[in-house]
Amino acid sequence: MRHIKELVPLLKKGNIVAFCGAGLSSESSIPTFRGKGGLWEKYNPEVFATLGGLLSLFIFSPKKVRDFIVEFYDILLSGKPNYAHYGLAELERKNLLLGVITQNIDDFHSQAGSTEVAELHGNAYKFWCLKCKIVVKKNREEFEKFIENLKSKQSRKEIIREILNFMGKCPSCRKRMRPYIIFFGQSLPQDELKKGYSYLDKAQTLLCIGTSGVVYPAAYLPYYSRRRGAKIININPESTPLDDIADWVIRETAVNFFKIILPILNETFFRHRRIRLRRKV
Ligand SMILES: [Zn+2]
Repeated sequence: MRHIKELVPLLKKGNIVAFCGAGLSSESSIPTFRGKGGLWEKYNPEVFATLGGLLSLFIFSPKKVRDFIVEFYDILLSGKPNYAHYGLAELERKNLLLGVITQNIDDFHSQAGSTEVAELHGNAYKFWCLKCKIVVKKNREEFEKFIENLKSKQSRKEIIREILNFMGKCPSCRKRMRPYIIFFGQSLPQDELKKGYSYLDKAQTLLCIGTSGVVYPAAYLPYYSRRRGAKIININPESTPLDDIADWVIRETAVNFFKIILPILNETFFRHRRIRLRRKV
């Protein structure tokens, strides 16, 4: 492990891509699903994290689906992007970062201002048509209203109607929209994957942030990047399999990493600051 400051010359070269996982969002008080206190402790992922499981539950016991949706979005809506999400958006604005490839569905990258984002596992604020692949996004306020309404629905019919109405229909083929969330066992959305690889094809530095690197097929991406010659920086407070391929291992949380690195990069980039310094001399 080396000191974080040693990374500055490398980061200043640009062509950075970030590959992010649940550890990044756990600092936004979004507990990882798998971890202790995670949603999968209470809701069996074989039912609630598979499309087939959810669909049959939706038909036979919609109240359970309602409870799950309410609990899931209550957690999501109470979280906010953290310093690291804003840090990544800042690197993009400085033209140092090509894009973010994320396995998180919480939308925090967009909310923090990132525009180049490949969402490998979807986005909890989006719906899509499985036929036309058209993706529609709803905002936080719309979701807040929906969750409030859903909480008050008791009968099976009301619950189903509320959920279906909110998901809406495809603007092109009028088929029912589905949550744009990649469930266990589903393949990753091709467009997002393509976008992710297009970032990696130009990447000179890959920041792996808060990802254990064990959820496939997303976990292949760092290895792909490594083969293409990118330097790998693994930022994670815990040891992960990605340590083995990393050129730098940073045992820090993502927030701490950005709190150290960003002010140093800003020194170089804020011209007014340089001028002010010169004046002082
Ligand atoms: Zn359609």
